[in-house]
Amino acid sequence: MNYRHGYHAGNFADVLKHVALCELLRLLTAKDKKLFVLDTHAGAGGYDLAGDLARRTGESESGVRRLAAAPRAGMPAAVMRYLAAVAAYDRRFGPAAEGLRRYPGSPRLVRAALRPGDRFVACELHPVDALALKREFAGDRAVEVRQADGYNALKALMPPVERRGLVLIDPPFEAPDEFERLLRALRHAMRRFATGCYALWYPIKDEAAQSFVGALADLEPLRLTLDLGSGEAGRLSACGLAVVNPPWRFDEAMRAALPWIAARLGPRVSAAVDGGRATPAVPASSG
Ligand code: SAM
Repeated sequence: MNYRHGYHAGNFADVLKHVALCELLRLLTAKDKKLFVLDTHAGAGGYDLAGDLARRTGESESGVRRLAAAPRAGMPAAVMRYLAAVAAYDRRFGPAAEGLRRYPGSPRLVRAALRPGDRFVACELHPVDALALKREFAGDRAVEVRQADGYNALKALMPPVERRGLVLIDPPFEAPDEFERLLRALRHAMRRFATGCYALWYPIKDEAAQSFVGALADLEPLRLTLDLGSGEAGRLSACGLAVVNPPWRFDEAMRAALPWIAARLGPRVSAAVDGGRATPAVPASSG
């Protein structure tokens, strides 16, 4: 396990995933019923963009930092809310000297959206990041941090007692069989909890991404993609998020947000929102 999310925090892939995550959480918590959230590959929880790892790549410069510097006029509501969540996390560390310094990982974004009575389990396998994650939520009884394999946790925790759930599966894709593992874990989880909302992040590098999308076809996920248009060898330049059973009107929010984000990130950047069900799931059925 070499992957450390600290190198990539706040990059274009995080922007796509986290804008979508914030919107999913907002829609799923709008209803007055308890929600269970599982983050199978949670990372460290929060990142210092001025720290060693993030500075070595500078990836947030062409990601969240570019968006944070954009004028607010005409900004889609989902982006505005995402940036507000990012800024709220940054402020926990005091007034920033210049620009954005601390970036929330998915567990922090989930935590910010939880209501009393909601339940959240975050799994992280890497010992250093798992320790950081435990420290991030030390004393916070709303968050259960496990240093554990997220796929095993997914097996064990489905179906949640709440019968409403959001599962984020965001693996590092270091292992050659990651797509297969993800698909197996998803199918297993869906046999036990078919109405849950599942958000699956994936890199778009070669035909493996296309096969993955093909393998999901019967589930009719909404697919969000962001492509930097740079195609640099060895560097991730495009990624997607497949959302199975998205809540009602999630697609609308993403159709408004993603083209705007792409235009702000650069002239060669493009975004797409595809797939989904012709008749969107009504709020009650989305977990
Ligand atoms: N979800 C995080 C976010 O959005 O802020 C980023 C997660 S990062 C892409 C993937 C993480 O999964 C890494 O921190 C890695 O150590 C961890 N990981 C790798 N294999 C795992 C496994 N089987 N179970 C749980 N975590 C794993």
